[in-house]
Amino acid sequence: MSAENAKRVGIVGAGQLGRMLALAGYPLGLRFVFLDKSKDAPGGQVGEIILGEFGDAEKLRELSEHVDVVTFDVENVPVEAVREGVTRPFRPSVDLLEKAQDRLLEKQLFQSLDIPTPPFAPVDSLADLRAAVEEIGLPAVLKTRRLGYDGKGQRVLREGADLEPAFKELGSVPLILEGFVNFEREVSIIGVRSVSGEARFYPLSENTHREGILRYSVAPFEDRTLQGLAERHIERLLNTFDYAGVLTIEFFVADGKLIANEIAPRVHNSGHWTIEGAVTSQFENHIRAILDLPLGDTTPMGHSAMVNFIGTMPAVEDVLDIPGAHYHSYGKEPRPGRKLGHATLTSQSRTELMMRLEHLLNLAAE
Ligand code: AMP
Repeated sequence: MSAENAKRVGIVGAGQLGRMLALAGYPLGLRFVFLDKSKDAPGGQVGEIILGEFGDAEKLRELSEHVDVVTFDVENVPVEAVREGVTRPFRPSVDLLEKAQDRLLEKQLFQSLDIPTPPFAPVDSLADLRAAVEEIGLPAVLKTRRLGYDGKGQRVLREGADLEPAFKELGSVPLILEGFVNFEREVSIIGVRSVSGEARFYPLSENTHREGILRYSVAPFEDRTLQGLAERHIERLLNTFDYAGVLTIEFFVADGKLIANEIAPRVHNSGHWTIEGAVTSQFENHIRAILDLPLGDTTPMGHSAMVNFIGTMPAVEDVLDIPGAHYHSYGKEPRPGRKLGHATLTSQSRTELMMRLEHLLNLAAE
């Protein structure tokens, strides 16, 4: 196959996820073109960037015309612009993307598919908020319905006096109130389904957040009952939307049960461990799925832990000094709270992995 007739994949957003998708796709003989508003975005290191806003239908059309299939690495792609501008198959699913962009629609979707959620209610006024607190009780979490990520746009309400200030801080946009889940742990499942309907699932990953941002993940989280349940939940979503690509559901585990928090209709930070820790990575499987290639084996190879580098990057030498460590720098300018890179540890022994993880977490401390 010559470079001229290599298949081309368009990615809306040239962040680290897009960069890792391209890195996984090159061995398959593919080429990548991104749409991003910044010429310095990480994807620019591994593909051409068309400069433009995600919501610019003309730019989405231009991207489409360069490629065979369009996917995305960010969730805040305006769906009207996608429907208007994208002239090639847009995968995984514009319909599920639309639901995932609005926490209320997302929760209603979970409910309609019998996937348990915390109690929730829409909030558009202070009176709504008082009524919702009456019904749901405190503590509770008030969140913006749209454009919240990494813990942004949310406030925990603990007592009556918290309501008005939280509403004022978040207030002029549609909100949702959720019951506060006293969770034992947070886990996520990543599933992948191809255009022709083949589906596979990765083992659950256990995720630790601080200030709403994922700090580290350990996989596999071995619990056969929860694994089976999570697979049934995600399979229902994949099939309902005739989905093609990788999908993630984040869950709380409370009283030994799964409670869905949110979905990401894309590759996910809690699946970065699959690059070195699974037979086929989430990134390669996403690419295979959207091009309708046979999916790869999702079996884990031993135990893995992934640590995010947020705000600062540790020295590469220090990380690589840990046996079994793999270093990923996204080539981004350091900024407080910004995900700049990650490292993955793999080991055949869980005990050994946890010891090395402690070391890596010390290096990653901001
Ligand atoms: P989110 O942006 O909704 O994923 O929230 C980020 C993090 O905030 C989650 O991973 C949890 O650690 C915490 N969180 C969000 N919603 C709730 C909730 N209803 N109850 C308890 N913790 C929550």
